[in-house]
Amino acid sequence: MPAEPEKDAPTPGIPERAVPAKADTGEPVAPARVLSIHAHPDDQEFTVGGTLAKWARAGSQVVTVCITSGGAGSNEHTPPGMTRGALVPIREEEQRQACRVLGVSEVVFLGYEDGMLESSLALRRELTRVIRRHRPDAVVCGDPTVRYYGAMYMNHPDHRAASDAALDAVFPSAETRLIFPELLDEGLDPHKVGAVFIHGSESPDTFIDISEVLSVKLAALKEHRTQMGTWDPTEMITGWARLQGAPRELEAAESFRVMRLHND
Ligand SMILES: [Zn+2]
Repeated sequence: MPAEPEKDAPTPGIPERAVPAKADTGEPVAPARVLSIHAHPDDQEFTVGGTLAKWARAGSQVVTVCITSGGAGSNEHTPPGMTRGALVPIREEEQRQACRVLGVSEVVFLGYEDGMLESSLALRRELTRVIRRHRPDAVVCGDPTVRYYGAMYMNHPDHRAASDAALDAVFPSAETRLIFPELLDEGLDPHKVGAVFIHGSESPDTFIDISEVLSVKLAALKEHRTQMGTWDPTEMITGWARLQGAPRELEAAESFRVMRLHND
């Protein structure tokens, strides 16, 4: 049995356990390949649309993964006769339009049931498959550890499940040959994701200035017509962007906790 490591010594082979991440003051360069993983159509536009628009304009190739197609997304704007089956293709098309506005090159729908998402092994395998296929430098997803935002919004269980499965797919599944070995048979070799940009974190360390693409974020969000109805999200989104930018004195930002898993 190996000797107990000294209290403050880095854990051999697992440096990230012992070395606290430094606060990142500079804005990271746009990753070459980005995979943006979310539970529902519109989640991406509310949370990270500015960052993706900025990166796409800087040359990033961005692929969006929408785990459900938002078939339960009914609200006061929804016609009374609307069904899940009728809503799905409408929301998929709204998501495609929003992605076009942002500059996202591809949207993948995984077809899971809206409102019923679990961080299952099946979902982890599916996301591992997508990661190995698209081989992103950065994955963008939510924070599964946050259950409450303020006093008025409990994080949707689908959001928590989606981000939990996304993080588990990034590490260790995507980079480990003998996890889901059936993927090797599909020609999908292991892939190391360089960094994970986690939005909605209570301890953000990275701030993307979105002031020049705030209008693009709003335009993309407005493509989700079934969800927006006649509501203009400008005031709310502008306020969120100001709040997230405040720690760096930015007029408009999206903030992230960033896990840097591999630098190469
Ligand atoms: Zn959602």
